[in-house]
Amino acid sequence: MQVSKFGGASVKDANAVRNFCSIIEKIQKPQVIVVSAMGKMTNAFEELMDHYYNGQHDFMTSQFEFIKGFHETIAMSLFDNLYVPVLQPFHVLMADLVHRLQQPPSMHFDFEYDQIVSYGELFSTLLLSSYLNYTSKFNKWIDVRQVLKTDDLFRDANVDWDLTEELMQETFTFSDVSLYVTQGFLGGTISNITTTLGREGSDYTAAIIGNVMNADSVTVWKDVPGILNADPRIFPDVEKLDALSYAETIELSYYGAQVIHPKTIKPLQNKQIPMFVNSFFHPELLGTSISENEQQNEIPVFILKKDQVFITFSSRDFSFIAEDNLSRILAMFSKFRVRINLLQTSALNFTVCVDNRKELMPLLETFGVDFFTRYNENVELLTIRNYNERTIQEKTHGYQIIDSQITRKNARFVLWKTSV
Ligand code: ASP
Ligand code: MG
Repeated sequence: MQVSKFGGASVKDANAVRNFCSIIEKIQKPQVIVVSAMGKMTNAFEELMDHYYNGQHDFMTSQFEFIKGFHETIAMSLFDNLYVPVLQPFHVLMADLVHRLQQPPSMHFDFEYDQIVSYGELFSTLLLSSYLNYTSKFNKWIDVRQVLKTDDLFRDANVDWDLTEELMQETFTFSDVSLYVTQGFLGGTISNITTTLGREGSDYTAAIIGNVMNADSVTVWKDVPGILNADPRIFPDVEKLDALSYAETIELSYYGAQVIHPKTIKPLQNKQIPMFVNSFFHPELLGTSISENEQQNEIPVFILKKDQVFITFSSRDFSFIAEDNLSRILAMFSKFRVRINLLQTSALNFTVCVDNRKELMPLLETFGVDFFTRYNENVELLTIRNYNERTIQEKTHGYQIIDSQITRKNARFVLWKTSV
């Protein structure tokens, strides 16, 4: 069997859904299809969640209407009528969401987040599964929360691999159907409470299913021709990378290339399952294949992380940034869940580059007791893999270089934009 994952962009409106269906028709079966929320719906649900949690009733209602309207417009276009029998589960789910929004939230933000935001994937897969059946591409809708079991670390749940394997193998039997449609990003605890795997987690879902089902391959369908050597929205000339090793793919996503969710590769590598990244605009073309191949990618890869904060910590009592201090500092970052994108140490300073996120302020306040902190906001972190002098010159032009870190394979720069 094989697994295919379709992200939000591949099902962002009715035409996209029709294109999705034509790909499903052509791909080899048996397949499990993993789908994300449609378009930018997860962001829309996050906003809904904020209004719900903060008791902003009017904002919440108008955001709900927006979300409902978005899905109904797609459903209308696909089925011509919102009240066809196959749409019954969709309406039931909508009523369920209304009911939930009428209950006051608990005090546990992350828990409430998973309960609300998960509707994005549920709506999307219900609509898609119904539409596939409606157009004679018979499939079974699976509630992934029943078979992908996790702990209760809401918004970042950890998979219970043994239980998930058992349940998925019992469920995805392909005895009466060759196609299953299920949700990415979601999981469920053993008490059937909804959890999520972290933003952009649907790739990871596909890899989990691939692993426990011993799939022949996992394919991720994207709006780009494959994995590119740079983000085309930032850099004008991009090249497709035809083949990557698992290790190289992990490196690229570690440095911030938004190729695939970083947790995706390990479950595939463990079982040597190849992954393909293909374009849903040109399903007939070869995209990027990811496997154990030893051959190294030599094409330069450019990764730019924007909206970074560059922070230097110096100890107030002039104690050295030695191992004991270092482990204290790192433990603090882990506790506040702030990910370090670049790290440098010197005798008295500890310097990092991190994403500008709301978790940062409480972390800085805690550090303030023992350390002086200085920071620059609005810097960018550029990583050039397989660099040379020319690519460095070209890509850092118009920037002031605040810090750099050069290794054999990577040149990394903390940059400040000087030209407009
Ligand atoms: N819908 C979720 C998100 O946008 C999961 C995913 O797309 O992978 O984060
Ligand atoms: Mg998404």
